Amino acid sequence: MALSIASSSSSSSSSISVAFSSLASSSSRTEPEVVAQLKVTKYQSSDRFNNFVSRKRAAAVKPLNAEPRRNDSFVPSAATTFAPDVVEKSVEVEDFEKLAKNLENASPLEIMDKALEKYGNDIAIAFSGAEDVALIEYAHLTGRPFRVFSLDTGRLNPETYKFFDTVEKHYNIRIEYMFPDSVEVQALVRTKGLFSFYEDGHQECCRVRKVRPLRRALKGLRAWITGQRKDQSPGTRSEVPVVQVDPVFEGLEGGSGSLVKWNPVANVAGNDIWNFLRTMDVPVNSLHAQGYVSIGCEPCTRAVLPGQHEREGRWWWEDAKAKECGLHKGNIKEETLNGNGNETVNVNNIVSDIFNSNDIVSLTRPGMENLVKMEDRKDPWIVVLYAPWCQFCQAMEGSYVELGEKLAGSGVKVGKFRADGDEKVFAQQQLQMGSFPTILFFPKHSSRPVKYPSEKRDVDSLMAFVNALR
Ligand code: SF4
Repeated sequence: MALSIASSSSSSSSSISVAFSSLASSSSRTEPEVVAQLKVTKYQSSDRFNNFVSRKRAAAVKPLNAEPRRNDSFVPSAATTFAPDVVEKSVEVEDFEKLAKNLENASPLEIMDKALEKYGNDIAIAFSGAEDVALIEYAHLTGRPFRVFSLDTGRLNPETYKFFDTVEKHYNIRIEYMFPDSVEVQALVRTKGLFSFYEDGHQECCRVRKVRPLRRALKGLRAWITGQRKDQSPGTRSEVPVVQVDPVFEGLEGGSGSLVKWNPVANVAGNDIWNFLRTMDVPVNSLHAQGYVSIGCEPCTRAVLPGQHEREGRWWWEDAKAKECGLHKGNIKEETLNGNGNETVNVNNIVSDIFNSNDIVSLTRPGMENLVKMEDRKDPWIVVLYAPWCQFCQAMEGSYVELGEKLAGSGVKVGKFRADGDEKVFAQQQLQMGSFPTILFFPKHSSRPVKYPSEKRDVDSLMAFVNALR
């Protein structure tokens, strides 16, 4: 069995290969079938959900990027996973707000150790190629095996690619690179050119090159580790907890609340990160020596002057409070502009539309009214009522777009209706909308739409709903 190693702090690739092979053969199973019986928890944030749900399941040890199902998606080698110990283990039901409070004064090393201990092979470090290399050093110091992934947007600086290589060699690891969907990049660049972000904002390009690949990566995990710090962005990161239920993305289990986000350096100041990197003689990106602090894609990152805030080096042509690429969009919320509550700006308004696909029909108010009135439709419809700034809508974007692709030409129409702003009352009164997203199925021979009852919004669950009613 070919095995490309994700990460390990100490093992050589050959020893891991042998371990995985023997594991597969001892259980008489092929690699994808090696299954660990895990007690897993569906994590739910306390303000959105009242109870934590725990259930037993058999969880396949999947490669990080095992999720993509589209034919034109990059299908990775089945063996990008480092599988340390596939054993029976229990994960306790956890109150993550309480855990965050308990760990508020813990060191990054302690937080990292806790995260790796809890999630084993189901957690990975998100590495951007900047000073978040500190996370890899902390993971290395725990002595535990760990995984690292990175988003190769295709627009990184040459220095960053060289740095990735240096890091792989320094820690004897393989970084699990995630790439954007080539068809989506092609469509974006052919229609809008290579630098559309300077004209209509970075959200669209980031969604294609970063957010969707990230979503794919996270679908193979139960938790991830980020280098977010409170002092990084005055507008969006001032309240980052050391651990939280991910407010935006879905994990292996699917559905809202199925992923946990660890931020071990949330409380560490940038200066202290640098002291740590120097003390431990950790390799750093050579761009830092040229004045870069925060590092992202080449066209969207620039050096900052002494005293300038590091985020001023990212998307400098945009509003300071909009400087999230979508990877940590849960940080963005309504904020008062002047602090006294009189003048507010809803940063959500700047988020561009979602569910953009040729397979999804964008319905207007008259279109929705017609759909509701019709008693004998030519085709059944499934329609999502959404708001593009809603984090739960964003989290299901991939599933819904995939649903559109699967149902294309099947006789079932897939639509979307933006139901915030002026349309909200109509949606609440006429379309059973309680919260975003609301998904409705309009059967062929009934005027009454059927509301999707579940919070599981993965494509398989949505397909099951459609197939049951079509
Ligand atoms: Fe595109 Fe810039 Fe975002 Fe990179 S940072 S994905 S180049 S908009």
